[in-house]
Amino acid sequence: MKIVICASEVFPFAKTGGLADVTGALPLALENLGQEVIVFMPKYQMVSEGKWHLKKIKTGLFSTTMGKDIKVYFVEHNGYFNRPGLYGEKTGDYPDNLERFCFFCKKTLEFLKDIDFKPDVIHVHDWQTSLIPVYLKTTYKGSSFYKNIKTLLTIHNIGYQGLFSKEEFFKLGLDWSLFNIEGLEFYGQINLLKGGIIFSDAINTVSPTYSKEIQTKEFGFGLEGVLAKKKENLYGILNGIDYSVWDPLTDKLIFKNYSVQDLKGKYENKKELQRLCNLPLKDVALFGMVSRLAEQKGWDILAQAIDEICKLNLQLVILGTGDLKYHLILEEISKKYPTVCSIHLKFDEVLAHRIYAGSDVFLMPSKYEPCGLGQMISLKYGTLPLVFKTGGLADTVSEENGFVFDNYKKEDLVKKIKEAISLYKDKDRWNLLVRRAFSYNFSWEESAKKYIELYQKLVNQ
Ligand code: ADP
Repeated sequence: MKIVICASEVFPFAKTGGLADVTGALPLALENLGQEVIVFMPKYQMVSEGKWHLKKIKTGLFSTTMGKDIKVYFVEHNGYFNRPGLYGEKTGDYPDNLERFCFFCKKTLEFLKDIDFKPDVIHVHDWQTSLIPVYLKTTYKGSSFYKNIKTLLTIHNIGYQGLFSKEEFFKLGLDWSLFNIEGLEFYGQINLLKGGIIFSDAINTVSPTYSKEIQTKEFGFGLEGVLAKKKENLYGILNGIDYSVWDPLTDKLIFKNYSVQDLKGKYENKKELQRLCNLPLKDVALFGMVSRLAEQKGWDILAQAIDEICKLNLQLVILGTGDLKYHLILEEISKKYPTVCSIHLKFDEVLAHRIYAGSDVFLMPSKYEPCGLGQMISLKYGTLPLVFKTGGLADTVSEENGFVFDNYKKEDLVKKIKEAISLYKDKDRWNLLVRRAFSYNFSWEESAKKYIELYQKLVNQ
């Protein structure tokens, strides 16, 4: 099959979160399974022409290769994409995001024709590329080149929908008849993700549990009704992990490579992490976090509990950026507990790897979690995840390989942390659990096979 993966971020070219991990790894897995895949993304400032050996294909279009022979195309627009951020900067989202991603979607469709790549399926991701299915079924409906192209929309997080003011609707170049509740309107605003849900041939989320959760009022963020109507075409496929990036045996970013056969290597990573973070070199449970600082990631209850947590017999290393209020709380905490807590308010790929390798427990108490990669990565590094039972966390972590609490309350979080600390003292039981953690395999191959099945189903429709 001929497949286009179209996304606003793709690892290793540009990344703000798990979306990039997925769109970077899935094409490689599809290629390994014999599919013909190409990738489209915007040419951001951070996509360096020199580093990636970009070739100019034509005005506004560059390309490079990844995997064995996957062409990655970069859509250029200096005004829209030559900026420091992907979606915004410290002061907030870019005010012209609707125009930016509308441009990207239209250009992607046009360039497909220019490079003469007629795909069987265009696989789009989140609100930024949700206009592609909309345009295919409206603006480009009569064109023979686009006939029979199927679309799959993956929702990585339904909390982000691409909401814009009604006054901007004309910029989309769509007929005004589409601005109603059966179309892109959402309580008087434009909702791009809603457009994607309605116009794509199928939708999936990134874990089976989350695909059910988003059909409920509690997790649907207002789109549960629209999703219920597309229920027959709504699937849940768990993300995988790219083990060529995330494997403690080959990872070049950690202090010392190790495997399940060599747990000593893991504890050397712990020592080096303590040293790097100016924490005392003592044998105490080290809890790591690599996370966006957002309520979704559990930061509302974490912020309430953090003072109490820092008084426990543990060490805490936190890497993350996000909401200003959490930055301020964490700055205070790091001043108050310098020998317990090490806080890094930035995006840092190297430190992230070192935290996954050097921690005993990976803290991920997300309030809701479409899939979550951190818990799967940490298992591969023999680091036990501590999670709230939701979405992809519920599908991947149990008391067999980590710690799970099922009542989203500060008290229950602290109780679980205390339980982990007390188990840590029982070295035999602890190491048994750590060894078991290594055995979980979330490779992309299995997930990619499920995507191929789904693509095939669409093509056969
Ligand atoms: P998200 O909802 O943010 O996409 P995921 O768990 O699906 O959450 O994926 C997060 C990805 O981003 C992981 O690869 C994680 O290691 C990485 N990440 C998150 N915050 C940071 C950070 N501050 N520095 C480095 N990597 C980060």
